[in-house]
Amino acid sequence: MDPRRLELTVSLIRALGLAGDARRPILSPGRASDRDLLRVHSDEYLVAVRRASRRGAVADPGLLHYGLGTDDVPIVEEMHAAARAIVGATLRAAEVVMEGEAVRAYSLAGGLHHAMPDRASGFCVYNDLAVAIRWIQRHYGARVMYIDYDAHHGDGVQRVFYDDPDVLTVSFHESGLYLFPATGFIEELGEGEGYGYSANVPLEAHTGDDSFLAAFEALVPELASAFQPDVIMLQTGCDAHVWDPLTHLRCTTGLFEKLVRVVGAVADEHCGGRIIATGGGGYAVYDVVPRAWTLTWAALCGGEAPDEIPPAWLASVQAEAGQALPATLRDSAGIVAPTPGQPERDVVNDRTVRSLRRKVMPIITGWGLGF
Ligand SMILES: [Zn+2]
Repeated sequence: MDPRRLELTVSLIRALGLAGDARRPILSPGRASDRDLLRVHSDEYLVAVRRASRRGAVADPGLLHYGLGTDDVPIVEEMHAAARAIVGATLRAAEVVMEGEAVRAYSLAGGLHHAMPDRASGFCVYNDLAVAIRWIQRHYGARVMYIDYDAHHGDGVQRVFYDDPDVLTVSFHESGLYLFPATGFIEELGEGEGYGYSANVPLEAHTGDDSFLAAFEALVPELASAFQPDVIMLQTGCDAHVWDPLTHLRCTTGLFEKLVRVVGAVADEHCGGRIIATGGGGYAVYDVVPRAWTLTWAALCGGEAPDEIPPAWLASVQAEAGQALPATLRDSAGIVAPTPGQPERDVVNDRTVRSLRRKVMPIITGWGLGF
């Protein structure tokens, strides 16, 4: 979660002239109040995060109880202020879209989908996505479709809205059989009135672009058509990339551009184009994240990004990284070597998609039995 990845992304977007003008301004974050945070997180949890933020704080059983002071969420001075600032950025993105000042907005630092109401988890302290969705619900009474294609299951967001039929959460991720947080199976469908409004697509390890995109195209337009959202919240973690050090998916940067185009078409058809996007995972700081999120941003804007990376940007980042970096935004297909068993994996993914459709679609459409 090296924040350098965010600075590099913004500098690449600027170097390509894709933001920073009147049509695509870079905005200051908003501010998340305690009241905003408390619509998702518990009071006791906020107290614990504040305690962990004090100078000299160290992990103790009281903090570990809240997931603070672990390897994934170490104790850092001022962590409350930093985590709250990220929520403020996503709230600002939600505000400009819901107020009609912009059709699309991108909160790059956001996307902290593992944070639970009363526990930090997986590098996430406060769940900016869930706080923003609650804010949208309260101020606009809107129906929100949450789409998450980070390689990890969006478990925190699912948890918060598990019983809510006005928020459809859809997560595509590497199967929890192989990857943190070990959840996100197709049987996790929601509870109570929210039953059927949590959709999970666990993909096989080593899944590549084609099978990932096929699953996404088979489900996202149909789910949106049935659910009729007022706005889409999109988590754009890019850790499904083959070079990501934490996951076992085998995708390329070009996939993310295609996924966003699918979401863009769905948003144009059903909700006036409105998409509030956030970042998320992505741990290949120099060679993947800036390129993946530049393509994501360009696709959100509805335009075509050029392919060549400006030579001056490339030279300076290569010097910093101490490694050779790709000179184009889109990877060549050749970076993913064929692996044995790929057709079989794709068949398993197809089967997962079909069985999820059979479970979810009759509920969302209200058709009862079908398929
Ligand atoms: Zn992730």
